[in-house]
Amino acid sequence: MTAARSLTTVAELVEAGLVPEARRAGAAAVAARYAVAVTPSLVALIDPADPNDPVARQFVPDAAELVTLPEERADPIGDLAHSPVEGIVHRYPDRVLLKAVHVCPVYCRFCFRREMVGPEGLGTLSALALDAAIAYIAARPAIWEVILTGGDPLVLSPRRLQAILERLAAIPHVKIVRFHSRVPVVDPARVDTALIAALKASGKTTYVALHANHPREFTAEARAAIARIVDAGLVMVSQTVLLKGVNDDAAVLADLMRTFVENRVKPYYLHHPDLAPGTAHFRLTLAEGRALVESLRGRVSGLCQPAYILDIPGGHGKVRADSAAVEEADDGCFRLRDFRGETHLYPPRQDET
Ligand code: SF4
Repeated sequence: MTAARSLTTVAELVEAGLVPEARRAGAAAVAARYAVAVTPSLVALIDPADPNDPVARQFVPDAAELVTLPEERADPIGDLAHSPVEGIVHRYPDRVLLKAVHVCPVYCRFCFRREMVGPEGLGTLSALALDAAIAYIAARPAIWEVILTGGDPLVLSPRRLQAILERLAAIPHVKIVRFHSRVPVVDPARVDTALIAALKASGKTTYVALHANHPREFTAEARAAIARIVDAGLVMVSQTVLLKGVNDDAAVLADLMRTFVENRVKPYYLHHPDLAPGTAHFRLTLAEGRALVESLRGRVSGLCQPAYILDIPGGHGKVRADSAAVEEADDGCFRLRDFRGETHLYPPRQDET
């Protein structure tokens, strides 16, 4: 079926046939805690007769989200610990996240920022907070790249995006502006000439990192939206979360990575799922993830190989999950070496930050 607007309540999901009556109560308990939104494009993609539909699994709330494990945490990758001013996350010397908005067109059931995004989330930066965030970037010449994330920055109006980009364009040491977004696949009609023009900052290079997790997300409309971005001269890279029941299959992963490349999106990140609350049903073990990534080698072209990444819990940065920086320990845990050379256990002990 097609919906005229995004479905944001369990009653609407039941009416659309996406939540069976027997699962209504569980879904409602989840929706009382975490934001829900499924765009018309995605509603049209879901097969309600398939209980294992990989698109539904990503967006339709499920009672499994009510189960929180001890190692899960509200801020799994430690954004708050690295936020010197509101809206900025500064984890590495040469780049910052600029989180201008905490709203998304869809709410992913596995979201690592699920405690921060949504109508009840951290909201949109006020004019004063945005001033302070831009001043923070302007005052630090080491900042080479600004990554607009959130939330999904492409939900902002072209006028607001352009205002932010003009301010970044005025900072000489910022050379790269990167957007992380799901909009081209979940709401492709939004990607129009005005939005694309607003993503460009004079004298800077813009990258758009597209978040997609299953080849089915690449509808004709999504492919056309991606083509409009690339044809406008912006560079696109991908990010995917490795998710049980969605893409934890070598053939699906290979198909997904090839689909990115065919659409001129260079595979960049394949994320091991984070320890977000209520997401254990999506998580593979690191050993399972490493075996899947290994199976991609040889199966698909080098162009299709993403970097398999684990964000070290607590905000210690990213590590290549299939590299020598990740070592299996005797006790079934892994030892991760961060970019500073410090070692962390994974999964972390409960008393670790
Ligand atoms: S689009 Fe990104 S920030 Fe928004 S719910 Fe999905 S994973 Fe979270």
